[in-house]
Amino acid sequence: MIKTTLESYVQNGTTLNRGCCRFCGSTLKHTFVDLGMSPLCESYVSPEQLNQMEAFYPLHVYVCDRCFLVQLQEYVSPQDIFTEYAYFSSYSDSWLQHAKNYTENVIARFRLHSYTQVVEIASNDGYLLQYFLAKGINVLGIEPAANVAKVAIKKGIPTVVKFFGKNTANELAADGTQADLLVANNVLAHVPDINDFVAGAKILLKPQGVITMEFPHLMRLMEGNQFDTIYHEHFSYLSLLTVEKLFAEHGLTIFDVEELSTHGGSLRIYARQAEDTSKPISQQVKELRAREEAAGFSNLKHYFSFGEKVKETKFKLLEFLISAKRQGKTIAGYGAPGKGNTLLNYCGIREDFIDYTVDRNPYKQGKFLPGTHIPIFHPDKIQETQPDYLLILPWNLKNEIMSQMSYVRDWGCQFIVPIPEVNVYS
Ligand SMILES: [Zn+2]
Repeated sequence: MIKTTLESYVQNGTTLNRGCCRFCGSTLKHTFVDLGMSPLCESYVSPEQLNQMEAFYPLHVYVCDRCFLVQLQEYVSPQDIFTEYAYFSSYSDSWLQHAKNYTENVIARFRLHSYTQVVEIASNDGYLLQYFLAKGINVLGIEPAANVAKVAIKKGIPTVVKFFGKNTANELAADGTQADLLVANNVLAHVPDINDFVAGAKILLKPQGVITMEFPHLMRLMEGNQFDTIYHEHFSYLSLLTVEKLFAEHGLTIFDVEELSTHGGSLRIYARQAEDTSKPISQQVKELRAREEAAGFSNLKHYFSFGEKVKETKFKLLEFLISAKRQGKTIAGYGAPGKGNTLLNYCGIREDFIDYTVDRNPYKQGKFLPGTHIPIFHPDKIQETQPDYLLILPWNLKNEIMSQMSYVRDWGCQFIVPIPEVNVYS
């Protein structure tokens, strides 16, 4: 059962001011985009729950006028979301390959060996650390979800079941554990207390150590109109400029950056202790910083353009769907990802437009999408019902899905891709 943040914080005996920037503390006054009320995107509904009340929380994203951090306020505490987590990283082949390539690169670049210590925050089921372990490098995982951590421990990966922050870092450092390489992938954007998290990273890092972190890049989100990647568990939307300020505030310096294609476009940053001048700041950092500045990321006005673009995308998608339904066409969905739920709830797309969706994950089959209550079936349902259109919800995998599902063209079915704006492929 998900508790609201307010309840959790009252229980913990502390209070939380929802109206302040989670980095610099300024009052939040400016809307980046308001997607209305939405249920938690991973709360799939079982048949027994269909007639029960469902919790909806605001998906109202603000931008801070002092540090330009784009952020969602904390409505649901991570303790309630992440302590029993259904996502196992090792289920995704392409993610495993991404992890393996990364491992090989950093081992060579930073000369990691059997005396060095790699620590990963949010180490999940050990999908990444297993590759370091295989090379005889010391590894330690930190993972709050006990069920997922258990899988890592079984693989021989020592894992501390904890949330990460200053407290955990101090405990580990007191025990003599500090990192030569500290990794945190897809977690910086998901922590409510981002200052405590980065301060903890500083404590856990050796004087000559390296931090690498990956997170979705705000510039790509805005360019690609990826508003459906906004959901309640994703608290911060990050540019290089803002992350540099955040790290500098905590005595860390970003010395290199790479742009990745994962999650619709991500950054991988490399950071070090501010005092460690052995690693000069790369040309890539200077170049991306300049590109973000030229695009307007240090100017509040730039952030106001997004809301209008999002509305226009909604109108275009609805215009297309209404016209298809008026012509008597049938539409099915493909996939039941978290991002699909933001899109469908915001646009008000239910069974009036989409008869059903399908997903390969057996955990989701037989359930219903949160909020919209569109039923989720096994992909075989598509062959049985032969719809006129297939709406691809995980648009970031559109090429893979269109080639996998190419047999639907036999009966003239066409693919609809909703983002960055509605596009039809036959
Ligand atoms: Zn701020």
